[in-house]
Amino acid sequence: MSLALSDTLVLGTRFADELPELALPWQAAEAPEPQLLVLNEPLAAELGLDAEVLRSEEGLGLLVGRAVPEGARPVAQVYAGHQFGGYSPRLGDGRALLLGEVAGPDGVLRDLHLKGSGRTPLARGGDGLAAVGPMLREYVISEAMHALGIPTTRSLAVVATGARVHRETTLPGAVLARVASSHLRVGSFQYARATDDLDLLRRLADHAIARHHPAAAEAEHPHRALFEAVVRAQADLVAHWMAVGFIHGVMNTDNMTISGETIDYGPCAFMEAHDPATVYSSIDTGGRYAYGNQPAAAAWDLARLAEALLPLLHDEQEQAVAWATEALGAFATRYTAAWSARVHDKLGLPGGIDDAVAGPLVEDLLVLMRDGHVDHTLLFRELSAAARGDAEPARSRFLDLAAFDEWTARWRALGPDAGRMDRVNPLYIPRNHLVEEALDAGTHGDLDPLHRLLEALAAPYDERPGLERYAEPAPEDFGRYQTFCGT
Ligand code: AMP
Ligand code: MG
Repeated sequence: MSLALSDTLVLGTRFADELPELALPWQAAEAPEPQLLVLNEPLAAELGLDAEVLRSEEGLGLLVGRAVPEGARPVAQVYAGHQFGGYSPRLGDGRALLLGEVAGPDGVLRDLHLKGSGRTPLARGGDGLAAVGPMLREYVISEAMHALGIPTTRSLAVVATGARVHRETTLPGAVLARVASSHLRVGSFQYARATDDLDLLRRLADHAIARHHPAAAEAEHPHRALFEAVVRAQADLVAHWMAVGFIHGVMNTDNMTISGETIDYGPCAFMEAHDPATVYSSIDTGGRYAYGNQPAAAAWDLARLAEALLPLLHDEQEQAVAWATEALGAFATRYTAAWSARVHDKLGLPGGIDDAVAGPLVEDLLVLMRDGHVDHTLLFRELSAAARGDAEPARSRFLDLAAFDEWTARWRALGPDAGRMDRVNPLYIPRNHLVEEALDAGTHGDLDPLHRLLEALAAPYDERPGLERYAEPAPEDFGRYQTFCGT
C-alpha cells in the first residue's frame, strides 16, 4: 500500500541489514477497527512527522504496522535473556516489531517499534496481543520519565485495534508505537554469544558502538570501551531511578538496554512510602527487583553482558575474565558517585561537602523515612520549605519527632539551597491510583483523565494551581498496590 507519509518518512533497515541473524522479517496483524487513543505531537515533530497525517487513516495504518512506506522491512528482533535469574536461550519480539529506523531532523537514528502488533515466530505460547490498559500505562510512565529527565524509550501513540484480547477477562486490544535510541539489549548480546558466531558478536558490538557509544570507536580497545560505556550509562540510569523512587519491576537481561534508556514498562511503579523492600510486581515474589535491590540487579545483568562479550575482550579467556571483573567493579564506584550527586541535589547541599558528613546525613534521613512510612516524593518538596524556615509540613510526616528535629538541625547547619531542591525534586509523579484511574477510564473510552494526568506529568517540577490532587499520595482505601506483567 502506498502512503502519503512515504514522502516524509523513510524507515531505515540498518539493523536488519547489519544483523540479519537477529532480524526475522515479519508483518503486523490486521487491526479490524483502528482508533487513535493518544498521539504524542511533540515527539512526532521531533521525528519530523506531521501529526495531522498520523491522525489520518493511512497514519493509523502506519501506527498499527499495516501500511509501511516503500522500502521499509519490519522485523521481529531475536534475543535471549535471564528472566529472574533463569536463562532463556531464545526470547525475542513475540508481540512486537521493529518497523525501522527514523532519522529525525537532528539526523540521529531512532527505532520506530510496535508492541501488541500480533504473533511473530517468537511468540511461543503468547497471543501476540496487548490490551489498551497496559499500552496506555507504558505511554504514561515513559512520558513521565522523559519529563523527569530520565533516559527512556518514548511513546508516540496508542491505537486501539478493535480486536478483543483474552486475559482474565476480555479486553480491548491496542498497539503502542514506541521510539527508542535502539532496542539492543543485554539479551541481544547473550543471543549472539550463544550462537558461537564470533563475527556476529563483533558486528553487534560494532553496531552498538556506532549507534550509542561512538567515542568507544576511538579507544585503544573499542569493545572494552563499549562495555565500560554501558556500565557507566546503567549506573547513571539506576541512580536516576533511585532518586525518584522508580521501581522497574522486571530487570531481566532482555529488559536492559545497551543505550542506557529505560525500557519495557510492565509491572513498574513509583514508590510512595520510602522503603527499600518495596515490590509492586505480582510475579516478583522473592523481591529480586525490589526498590533497594535495583543497583545490585543492574550489576548482575552487566555481569551477563560481560560474559557475552568475553571473546571480544581478550584472546585469552583468563585475561578476558580478569579484565571484565575489574571493569564491572567500576559499576559500584560510578553508581555511588551518581547517587550521591543526585541525593546531594535533592537535599540542596552545597558543593564540596565532606562525604563523611553527607553520607551519614543521607543514610539517617532514609532510615527515618522508612521507619515513618514517609512519602518519598512529597518529603523532598516539603524539605525545601524547611530549608526556607517552615519545617512543619515535613515534620508532621515523621513518627520520631525528636529524631527528625535533630536531623533537620544538622542539615540546616550546612546551608541547603531550597531553589535548587525545587528544580530536582518532582511534585508530580505517576502515582499508582491516578494511573489506574486513567487506564480504567481509557479502557472504557474516556480519555479525559489520561490527558489531564499527562498534562500534570509533563512539567513535574512546576507547582500549578488546580493540580493539587496530582501531588497527593494514594488515599487509604486504595489499599496495597500490585502490578501485573500485562501479557
Ligand atoms: P516482557 O516481560 O514484556 O519483557 O516480555 C518477555 C518476553 O515475552 C518477550 O520476548 C515478549 O516478546 C514475550 N511476550 C510477552 N507477552 C507476549 C504475548 N502476549 N504474546 C507473545 N509474546 C509475548
Ligand atoms: Mg521485555
